[in-house]
Amino acid sequence: MSVDGGRTLAELERIDGVVGEGKLSKEGMAKLRETFGARFTAALRLVRRGCVKKYVFKPSGRVRWIVVGNEREYLIYDRAPYCHCDDFYLSVMNGSAKACKHLIAQRLASQLGLYEVEEESDEKYVRLLEEWRKVDALPRTKGPNVAGGRRSRWSGDEVHSPY
Ligand SMILES: [Zn+2]
Repeated sequence: MSVDGGRTLAELERIDGVVGEGKLSKEGMAKLRETFGARFTAALRLVRRGCVKKYVFKPSGRVRWIVVGNEREYLIYDRAPYCHCDDFYLSVMNGSAKACKHLIAQRLASQLGLYEVEEESDEKYVRLLEEWRKVDALPRTKGPNVAGGRRSRWSGDEVHSPY
């Protein structure tokens, strides 16, 4: 984990304080734009496009978040602010940015209640996790549902497995 994980988490927690009753006021938006800069605007765009997905595994109740980025999907652990994107490696880890747009988008979506919920069985957890990690590790190639990079490979009930 990043040495700045605690600091990044503290910055992200500001979002919780700004979003009241699932709403983002103009003042709140200005405050967050001040904190996160252009990354906040980019994150808000992701949230509005429905790029944040909450996977709930049953019956364990385990939760994993996915943010669909332009080129790939990012697995986000809400309690450990960490992301596999280049921005995280290049800017967040050296302290020049507070968080990447994916982390901001996840937090924002979670606070605003603006995310899609996908329910999966626990049996599928390991396989999905493997897939997400694979997606993280490799540049995303074209898939059947990724036109414009907007749609998740995992949207809908169908799970594509290469196996
Ligand atoms: Zn990221």
